[in-house]
Amino acid sequence: MAAGARNLTKTYGSGDAAVHALRGVDLDLPSGRFTAIMGPSGSGKSTLMHCLAGLDQASSGTVTVGGTDLAALDDDALTVFRREHVGFVFQAFNLLPMLTAWQNILLPLELGGRIDDATRERARAIADTLGVADRLGHRPAELSGGQQQRVAIARALVMQPDLLFADEPTGNLDSTTSAEVLDHLRRSARELGQTVVMVTHDRDAATYADHVVTMQDGRIV
Ligand code: ADP
Repeated sequence: MAAGARNLTKTYGSGDAAVHALRGVDLDLPSGRFTAIMGPSGSGKSTLMHCLAGLDQASSGTVTVGGTDLAALDDDALTVFRREHVGFVFQAFNLLPMLTAWQNILLPLELGGRIDDATRERARAIADTLGVADRLGHRPAELSGGQQQRVAIARALVMQPDLLFADEPTGNLDSTTSAEVLDHLRRSARELGQTVVMVTHDRDAATYADHVVTMQDGRIV
């Protein structure tokens, strides 16, 4: 599903305290493209990603996803839109502590009423690729940080969302697992036509993307 931003601005606060996090961003995210967003800390990367994902509202400008202007959706419609079309991999893994890794991975499929033999099979294959297949019976507290991160990535990938957002997805991973995760993101975009957006500081990670965008002071440079 294609997405895009036109003349997007975001200002936090007002008057002397105003912070211009986005100062007029134009960005096209065609279906099937894997885009990396780079840039120094505070340049507006997370703000841009949150606006594109419908988690935060821009101050002006438009975000369109699959032809829909997100500003036209009310809160309920936005929630449905995110549930049906958007997946996230955040640095905070948001795994539920009382569920096993396997239950955590299957949870969004269950909530979406999409659990069946085929999706279970896919979940197992993804867990296998990410090297957590032998950890699926464990709760998050019994996993290392890197394993928790891989479980969170598996949970996002198993939904095969039209739009997948990843914030420093390889931050805690060793280089071999990082390469596998990045390769998986790249293949998801190519083979499933997913639109994948990754924020990263890591130049090596960005080389997996089809397109690299650099931000500075709230603008794409
Ligand atoms: P990056 O992801 O590139 O580090 P951010 O999008 O997080 O950048 O932040 C861009 C600017 O907006 C920074 O100056 C940051 O301090 C500011 N900012 C981000 N979120 C908020 C907020 N909730 N309230 C006030 N300022 C914010």
